[in-house]
Amino acid sequence: MGYEASWRRSVDEPEAFWGEQARLIDWQTPPRRILDQSNPPFRRWFVGGTTNLCHNAVDRHLDARGDQLAIVAVSTETGITREISYRELHREVNAFAAILVDLGVGKGDRVVIYMPNIAEAVFAMLACARIGAIHSVVFGGFAAHNLALRIDDAEPKLLVCADAGMRGGKIIPYKPLVDAALRETKAPPAHVLVVRRGLDPDMAWVVERDLDHAPLREKHLDANVPVEWLESNEPSYLLYTSGTTGRPKGVQRDVGGYAVALAVSMTAIFDLQPGQTILCTSDVGWAVGHSYNVYGPLIGGCTAILYEGLPTGPDPGIWWRLCEKYKARTMFSSPTGIRVLKKQDAAWLRKYDLSSLKWIFLAGEPLDQPTYDWLTTGTGKTVVDNYWQTETGWPALSLMPGLDLKPVKPGSPGFPTFGYRMRVIDEATGEEKPAGEKGVLVIEPPLPPGCLTTIWRDDERYRRSYFGHFKELLYSSLDWAVRDADGYFFILGRTDDVINVAGHRLGTREIEESVATLGAVAEVAVVGIADELKGQVPAVFATLRQGVKDDPRDVAQAMERRVVELLGGVARPACVYVVGSLPKTRSGKLLRRALQALMQDTDPGDLSTLDDPGALEEIRLAIARGPHCGQRRA
Ligand code: ATP
Ligand code: MG
Repeated sequence: MGYEASWRRSVDEPEAFWGEQARLIDWQTPPRRILDQSNPPFRRWFVGGTTNLCHNAVDRHLDARGDQLAIVAVSTETGITREISYRELHREVNAFAAILVDLGVGKGDRVVIYMPNIAEAVFAMLACARIGAIHSVVFGGFAAHNLALRIDDAEPKLLVCADAGMRGGKIIPYKPLVDAALRETKAPPAHVLVVRRGLDPDMAWVVERDLDHAPLREKHLDANVPVEWLESNEPSYLLYTSGTTGRPKGVQRDVGGYAVALAVSMTAIFDLQPGQTILCTSDVGWAVGHSYNVYGPLIGGCTAILYEGLPTGPDPGIWWRLCEKYKARTMFSSPTGIRVLKKQDAAWLRKYDLSSLKWIFLAGEPLDQPTYDWLTTGTGKTVVDNYWQTETGWPALSLMPGLDLKPVKPGSPGFPTFGYRMRVIDEATGEEKPAGEKGVLVIEPPLPPGCLTTIWRDDERYRRSYFGHFKELLYSSLDWAVRDADGYFFILGRTDDVINVAGHRLGTREIEESVATLGAVAEVAVVGIADELKGQVPAVFATLRQGVKDDPRDVAQAMERRVVELLGGVARPACVYVVGSLPKTRSGKLLRRALQALMQDTDPGDLSTLDDPGALEEIRLAIARGPHCGQRRA
């Protein structure tokens, strides 16, 4: 069955469709009912079925593929590569689970995991899943305060961390941040389990509270911890959103729906059969990392490459070298990651044998045409844009090359995947927009399997944040989109990223895309700033590609000309700043509201998810010096 017929069935006959897909995973007891929609906007998938994520990711592969690689954990920071088979993974996870049990962690208890992208993070996640504990992985780059906020919310029984991570050759201590967070939080866990990598010998140690992982692992290396069978709708994990728009939300995931959705996506979207390899460059701390570094590939019986290091470390060929070495069929990265490589020589894309590689999937932000072109031309591979949110847990919009590949339209993540009935509607009236017109992207309930079930301990916030925007009960993505005459969706940015110039609504993305067509530009962010006459005007912030020697004022003027040429005078930037770097969240997303606040002297809101506060300081200075083109007119 091709895409149209399969998709149609997934939304028109959800019980029949998903009932069949449920067979892709193992159940201890089969579901009694496929879908329960009696209490919208909540819904329950595979009601009464009991299963377990760890069993599906590890145990059930032991017979057929015990010696196959499950995880290849590569660190270009420490220079260590660990190749872990399914059998070894099973052993490590059991040992880890035994430690958890010993520490009194059981079903329903929360465990916060604060670690770099290393194998032990995967062991810890799967061990929690095995015993029915709820993990909440907090991205290792978050500072103590972010960690404390998440601990306050999740109230964990245990915190698992590493002594340190590394980035660009620099040691980044983790444990001191844990100590600081635990001083701040109202809900400190009884114990901190520390994986010592030998990176921070001077680490402080709180006797009795802090436990060294290595001897405990040794003690439990032959443990066999039984799997805890969970009802399909019980929580498997919490994952806080990255906070681009405000206070992070504790996205709660279920067990059965998530496992089934991932299993389907592995074959239909990512085109991976058991035994094949995926290189996902994300971090276990992100939604993409949860789904396609850990659970998806393992449930699918694949080999997953986990990478600790910079895209450019030790050189910009590293990802391609890994694809060659492990014969990756699918690569999954982000536009930000590719833009980092784009600053470097394109020759790196042709240096390695990529004959096994078929697809490069990118997600997380709009994929601009220049980046798309650069990657497609450089590698000769099919680049597949896919759109999702922490909330959805897997792609909501994507082409599905595992099923049948529709023609790629650059800039579009394509069509809804299984179970997603999506509309583009008018933000005021809720009416569906005709093809070609911009509106808010919404999902008609029920949300498909894999999507969040609620916000942790806050059903009301779930209802209000996602379903409270329109008269009709619809999940609002809070993103602008447009659907073209062929049914392809295009994402135009977040609903709070729109500039209203004299009554004309301009997406920041449209202006950014025009600026990015200039070869000298590496990255660009556009924000609206208040203007007495026009309401709002666009301000442009851009970084230049490495090696560009032009006078920033000339490039800035070229940017202004290009925007006017492509979008008309109404979009003319009021000012253009050429800067060294742009403010980004830890997940690599542009934090436009920080720029906007600097320009207007307004409150930027929560900046604790900022990757590099120094970048903001530099921009503050640049603004004080004045723009390279135009005038500041706030
Ligand atoms: P918060 O919800 O806390 O503000 P966030 O939305 O940045 O944080 P994520 O869930 O990681 O956290 O990001 C999802 C968002 O990323 C989407 O809503 C969309 O704005 C953007 N996005 C993801 N994939 C794409 C894509 N392929 N094209 C365009 N935008 C994308
Ligand atoms: Mg979001």
